[in-house]
Amino acid sequence: KYRYIDIRRKRVRDLIYYRHKMAMATREWFDKAEFTEVQTPLMTVSSPEGARDYLIPSRIYPGKFYALPQAPQQYKQLLMVGGVDKYFQIAPCFRDEDPRADRHSGEFYQVDVETSFLTQQEFFETMEPYFSYIIEKLTDKKIQSKVFPQIPFKEVMEKYGTDKPDLRFEMLLVDLTDEFRSSGLDIFKEIGAVKGILVDREFTKKEIDKLTEEMKLEGAKGMVWFALENNKLSGSMAKLFSEDIQKKIVKKFKEGGYKFSGKQYIFAFGDEYMKACKLAGILRSKMGDLLELKDPNVLAFAWIVDFPMFEWDEKSKKWDFAHNPFSMPKGGLEALKKESPDKIFAQQYDVACNGYEMASGSVRNFHPESFIESFKVCGYSEKETREKFGHMISAFEYGAPPHGGIAPGVDR
Ligand code: ASP
Repeated sequence: KYRYIDIRRKRVRDLIYYRHKMAMATREWFDKAEFTEVQTPLMTVSSPEGARDYLIPSRIYPGKFYALPQAPQQYKQLLMVGGVDKYFQIAPCFRDEDPRADRHSGEFYQVDVETSFLTQQEFFETMEPYFSYIIEKLTDKKIQSKVFPQIPFKEVMEKYGTDKPDLRFEMLLVDLTDEFRSSGLDIFKEIGAVKGILVDREFTKKEIDKLTEEMKLEGAKGMVWFALENNKLSGSMAKLFSEDIQKKIVKKFKEGGYKFSGKQYIFAFGDEYMKACKLAGILRSKMGDLLELKDPNVLAFAWIVDFPMFEWDEKSKKWDFAHNPFSMPKGGLEALKKESPDKIFAQQYDVACNGYEMASGSVRNFHPESFIESFKVCGYSEKETREKFGHMISAFEYGAPPHGGIAPGVDR
């Protein structure tokens, strides 16, 4: 109600001004790089970007609805077919989904980008300077690496326990599955995976109890801990592990790049593989805060690559797209026909920075045949796919350039 009073506050005014500067700098950069800004329609058909659409009832066609775009995905691809081969837009997106801490609910803006004829690598090299430009123009922050490291999804989960890693500090996850399985303890005999970190700090029993409770809220069944001093483990759990296994655990952390000094603590989670990774990743992030390892003046970007193209949906007992259904599978049509869906990666990428996902994008599946085949994996017949995306397939049949793009979130 009193938003206009709110706007009088300096912080809010500064943010409005900052956002204006960002929009101006974005247009300046893309214009210089010979991109064309195109505004795409807002009253449109549904586009599967992963959420629910907002609908607008039509007065002229009673009982019919327009959808507000979740993203201009299909339009930007059609622009590529039309020959506008370097496009950008500061695009409004509408998604009827629950609010998130890092996204304005309902409507938000993306710097939507698409280009033709570039390989994934060439596209990365095109976009990296945009991020650097914006940051250097608007902030005093240091960019950890202007050529962003590229980390495959599998590796990022294994080492950081999240696909939005914070690369400002190390403390990588260590795999302790073998050591726990062979510990002789019944509860660990069949454990899917055990992932742990070593924290360079002493903890009281009370602190550990509090952490355990916090981690239980994140879905952990419990948290195993050891104290580590002079290459020796101690703590109530340590007694249950033979000396040989204790040695192996210590060795794993040494190999994981950790430096040993004074009294430190190991925390570990056992669960099915992804869950164990995620839990250790959540604790890693908490410990990064606690030990003040996240330098607020540094921005550490990374490309996360090689996402799985499909994921098995236990509920519906079928394969589904893991991310953007318009992504090109690695290996194209041949891979779709020959490989088992769980072996197929997508030419899909995210930009992660300081523990946030800043952008998502992909090289697109622009071959009519592989487009149809890709939907077939997810249980759609050619007829159904043509009914839904006939306009896209038909456009591709007129001859589409290889193309791909990205959409960084403005608010992020
Ligand atoms: N349309 C995608 C999204 O909103 C971004 C992209 O792939 O360009 O996540």
